[in-house]
Parts: sequence; C-alpha cells; structure tokens
Amino acid sequence: MSKKNSNIAIVGCGIIGLTCALLLSKLNIGIITIFGSYPKYNKNKTTALLDSSYNLYRNLNIFNQNNNNLYELRELKIHDRILNSGKHLNFKASEINRECFAYNIEDNMLSKLLIKKIINDKNIIHIDQNVKEITYTGDENILTTTENFKYNYKLIIAADGKNSICRNSAKIKTKTVNYNQSAVITRISHLNSHNNISNEIHRIGGPLTSVPLKENTSAIVWLDNPDRMSEIIDTNQFESFLNHQFINIFDGIKILDKHFAIPMQSIQAQELSKLRTILVGESSHIMPPIGAQGLNLGLRDIAWLYEIIENSNTKDYGNRNVLREYKNKRWLDIYKRQKAVELLNKSLVSDNTSIKIARKIGLYSLNNFNFIRKFLLTEGMVNKSYLPYIMLQ
Ligand SMILES: Cc1cc2nc3c(=O)[nH]c(=O)nc-3n(C[C@H](O)[C@H](O)[C@H](O)COP(=O)(O)OP(=O)(O)OC[C@H]3O[C@@H](n4cnc5c(N)ncnc54)[C@H](O)[C@@H]3O)c2cc1C
Repeated sequence: MSKKNSNIAIVGCGIIGLTCALLLSKLNIGIITIFGSYPKYNKNKTTALLDSSYNLYRNLNIFNQNNNNLYELRELKIHDRILNSGKHLNFKASEINRECFAYNIEDNMLSKLLIKKIINDKNIIHIDQNVKEITYTGDENILTTTENFKYNYKLIIAADGKNSICRNSAKIKTKTVNYNQSAVITRISHLNSHNNISNEIHRIGGPLTSVPLKENTSAIVWLDNPDRMSEIIDTNQFESFLNHQFINIFDGIKILDKHFAIPMQSIQAQELSKLRTILVGESSHIMPPIGAQGLNLGLRDIAWLYEIIENSNTKDYGNRNVLREYKNKRWLDIYKRQKAVELLNKSLVSDNTSIKIARKIGLYSLNNFNFIRKFLLTEGMVNKSYLPYIMLQ
C-alpha cells in the first residue's frame, strides 16, 4: 500500500469526508489519504442542499445543468398547529430573487456520485480500514488502523462523525444535550403534486416536514416525543396519522419505505482544532434536523478549510496558524446555527407560555412586516459574508 507524498489524512468516508477529499484534490498539494469504508445510506434519507452547497458541488463537477437527481424546493409553508391559530406562513424563493431555496437529494445518490469521482482521482488514496488510534508527537500525528498499519501525517481532518476517534485523541471535549425526542424519516407517495413546496407542520413535540422528491413523492422528517411516536408507528397507525396531519395538503398518502426512529441529540465540540487535528461535519456539531442545517454547515466547514489551505504558505498544513485560522472562520457560524436550531426546537417542544407568546408575536411579525420576512429569508439561507468563494457561484 503506497502513501506517496501524503501530508493530509481524512478520517471518515461519509458525505463530508468524501467531499473534503475531492475539494483538497483540486489544490494539487500532494496525495490526500482517506480512511474508512464507503458508506451505504438508507434510501429514505435525503438532504436539502442550500444554494451555497449546490454551488460547491457544481464547482466539483458533481452536478450539471440537467441533473435529474435533484428536486427543487421553491416554496416553504409553515403551518401552525401549536396555537391552533389556523395561520400559515409562506416563503417563496422568488421573494429573494431565487429560483429555489434548496435542492433535495437522496444521500445514497450523492455519496455514489462522490465515490465514482474519488475512484478516478489520482490525488486521492482510499484505505478501506478504520482508524483505531492517533498519537500526537508534536511534529506529526501517527495514525494506527484496525489492521495495525501505521501512517504519519502533518494534518488529520476528522470527518469521522458523532463518536469521532480523532476528536477524542485530540482531547477535545464536547457539550451534549439529549432531547426527549426522536426523528422518523420515510418517503411517501400522494395523489396530487407537491408543486415543489416543502411543508413544515409545527406541532407540540416537534415539527413534521415534507420535502419534495420526484413527481408525486415526498420525503418525511418527523420529530416527536419517543413514547407518542412509538404508539403511532408500532400500531401501524402511521399512514393514517400522516393523512390526518397533511389534510388539505396531500391526498391519498401511502408510505413507501420501512421507517425507524433515531434518538435526537445536540453535540457541540468545545474546540474546533487541536494537536494537528481539525474537526469537520458531525465530529464537530450535531443538531436536530430542523431547517436543513447539519450537512450544509459541515460543507461550509470543508469549503473554508479548502480556502485556508489554498492560501497557506506552507506544506505543514497542521501548523498552528492553519488550525487557528480554521477556528476563527468557523466558530461563530457553528455557534449561531446550533443556538438557532436549539431555540426553535425548544419553542416547539415546550409547553412554556412565554415561549408560546414569543412565537405568537414572531408569527404575527413574519406575516406582516415585509422587511423582517426578507431579512429572515436571507439570513436563514446563510449570509454571504460567511461563505468561502467556492460556494458563492
Ligand atoms: C433525519 C435526518 C435528516 C437530516 N436532514 C438534513 C438536511 O435536510 N439538510 C442538512 O444539511 N442536513 C441534514 N441532516 C444532517 C446530515 O445528515 C449530517 O450532518 C451529515 O450526514 C453528517 O455527515 P458526516 O459525513 O459529517 O458524518 P457521517 O455521515 O456520520 O459520516 C462519518 C463517517 O465516518 C466513518 N467513521 C467513523 N469512525 C471511523 C473510524 N474510526 N475510522 C474510519 N472511519 C470512521 C463512519 O463509518 C461514517 O462513514 C439530517 C440528519 C438526520 C438525522
């Protein structure tokens, strides 16, 4: 097995690790080594890619003009079932002069497109072994695989997800919040068209969201209290529950896939870089799937890292300046997104009256003040000053 002139290892072949390898390969800075098995994502799982993430993939030639694996999300409707106000809010992409807010894609399809490109990329070596241990020596990191091969690197990029070994080896602590909440994902068919609208039903316990897929099908993400959820899914009431919840939105809903519940947590790493290790994606931040934030945030991590490495005047990509620059560029964006998702989720789960009143005012304002609507629409999408150039067009 040849390591050639590899200074950089990426640990983890999830969507973030795969995308990061392709990005760094563009810089021609030597061989990038990527560790771990190629993933097989559940076919229910889809991700809404914001404009900036779509631009990144277009710049990597993953998507082209006629990509029929992408489903446009042109309108977002929020239906309030907490106050039973009967109100719903409409956000149209055309309000901010865009064709759509996001492009929905199946995770499995996206990872297949990335793997196909990686296999043909001469700047990337894939080592199909997991990482067991990383030892920091000062000048480099020694990485040991589960089959006891050892490799040395100047920089380790930790794309190894929630239980990151790289994060633990770098002695980075995390702050974890466990929610009394689970998520169920599935796909449904319906008799009428979704008209490229994503519906978010705000209910006590958590939101129930539909996201457009091809023709008369949509992806479903439902967050709720695990006990309430299991009463519905264990007794096969799920289909009638969905038909009831999406009344006047979809007709004749049928569930297309097996569904299962995932417990919800939010995890935030207390440092983003340390001991020649940089955390990206879910090794650094995990949050409930509200408002299409998680993967998009991880893609911003690696797009900034790409720009920092491109502008660094060194071959020692794990040096302190690179690590410090990464922390400076990423901390605020990650902190703000995590807080926003936490607050929104709390306002849906909680029975607390003051939060409900705040929501009521919020809903009123959103409906009535064009200025606030526009501000939230553009901020919610991602402020352009947070974006590295590869995500701008
Ligand atoms: C229900 C749900 C819906 C979501 N919807 C959206 C959405 O619409 N938009 C959005 O932006 N985000 C969404 N997200 C979040 C998004 O799915 C995640 O942020 C994203 O998948 C994380 O990717 P990752 O590559 O960082 O981590 P992972 O996908 O967890 O990948 C980590 C990889 O590292 C590997 N690995 C672990 N340990 C080792 C080791 N020791 N050695 C080698 N390899 C290792 C694992 O096998 C895995 O392949 C959603 C999440 C959920 C749960």
